[in-house]
Amino acid sequence: MTSRVALVTGGTGGIGTAICQRLADQGHRVATNYRDYAKALAWREMMLARGCDVAIFPGDVADPDTAEAMVHAVEAALGPIEILVNNAGITRDTTFHRMRADQWHDVINTNLNSVFNVTRPVIEGMRRRGWGRVIQISSINGLKGQYGQANYAAAKAGMHGFTISLARENAGFGITVNTISPGYVATDMVMAVPDEVRAKIIADIPTGRLGKPEEIAYAVAFLVNEEASWITGSNLDINGGHHMGW
Ligand code: NDP
Repeated sequence: MTSRVALVTGGTGGIGTAICQRLADQGHRVATNYRDYAKALAWREMMLARGCDVAIFPGDVADPDTAEAMVHAVEAALGPIEILVNNAGITRDTTFHRMRADQWHDVINTNLNSVFNVTRPVIEGMRRRGWGRVIQISSINGLKGQYGQANYAAAKAGMHGFTISLARENAGFGITVNTISPGYVATDMVMAVPDEVRAKIIADIPTGRLGKPEEIAYAVAFLVNEEASWITGSNLDINGGHHMGW
């Protein structure tokens, strides 16, 4: 397999860690961003101990300037970014009638505007070189909605419109653009949900369990393969049967 340069945003998180590991195991040169250097350094050392060398660069994906600087720093160190996984995300859950403007804007900026901030400085190079893979990590809740997540669901649904438009614009340039919509995966984001709410969620999942980060990473690895070059503008639901939409 050709070794590519991959940028995974939010690589230090639960799903991001598994994606970084999987892409590195495939022989790709992987980079991620950090906001807290000490935390990222500890994470990098943990990954190195597992035999996984992930380069770390400062960057807040919600901020256009630092996101662009991060892309340039990755490219200066590792070479042109050929695989981009827009994975960084946050929740600020509350019902809409109680939602403050900062809770709305923080989630839209981090989960949706980030996709502009990071993809924009990457896409022109991919077009020039005639090859690229862009993957958005959306969510089951961007498809079915969720109580207390009007901000999150709006951002995650927005990713789909972005994916299918970018896929059309770039299909003639060897670039595929796809979305993965995970269901509930056992990461800090989901473990932060109160136990009784999590138990109710699990009871609704036909497979009877939360997903594993590695199960999302597996789909990323699939979509970046050379053989996946005819898969573009698609959404891959990975949710244990929790939401079967058409
Ligand atoms: P985590 O909370 O474990 O990790 C989130 C990652 O995003 C962290 O590395 C975090 O870095 C980073 N991040 C957050 N905000 C920013 C920012 N402004 N700039 C740069 N990096 C940032 O989340 P998960 O691994 O669970 O989720 C990963 C993605 O998958 C998210 O987009 C999430 O919405 C989506 N998802 C998750 C599901 C789940 O069940 N876990 C289900 C469906 C979708 P830092 O340490 O600096 O905060």
